[in-house]
Amino acid sequence: MSTVFGLIIQGKIPSKKVFENERILAIEDIHPVAPVHILIMPKKEIPDIHSLEPQDWPLVGEMMSVAQKIAEEKGIVDGYRLVTNNGPNAGQTVFHLHFHLIGGRVLGHLG
Ligand code: 5GP
Repeated sequence: MSTVFGLIIQGKIPSKKVFENERILAIEDIHPVAPVHILIMPKKEIPDIHSLEPQDWPLVGEMMSVAQKIAEEKGIVDGYRLVTNNGPNAGQTVFHLHFHLIGGRVLGHLG
């Protein structure tokens, strides 16, 4: 595994885990932009959302389900955002698919 998230998944770099099962890991973002900022990622190495293939759809659905569960646990169901950046021009810096789950404050409109 070649990215920082790959190393986190392997346990070679420490992280604050919020959720983990055989397929998915969720951790706290190291530079949070809101009181709740969680990264939800598949353990499978997929660079970005545009690289997803039809066999990955169930995995993406499970990532959504994990996002719902964490939003409930964090008490932010009244307002949260689930974002994925695809490619450098969208601000992607780690090329291992992840959703940012952001909430805990009033969020401005998308820029
Ligand atoms: P991207 O820019 O690819 O959409 O998001 C990457 C995110 O990963 C950023 O929000 C950044 O703060 C976070 N990040 C980068 N390196 C680490 C790390 O080593 N640990 C954790 N927990 N988050 C990281």
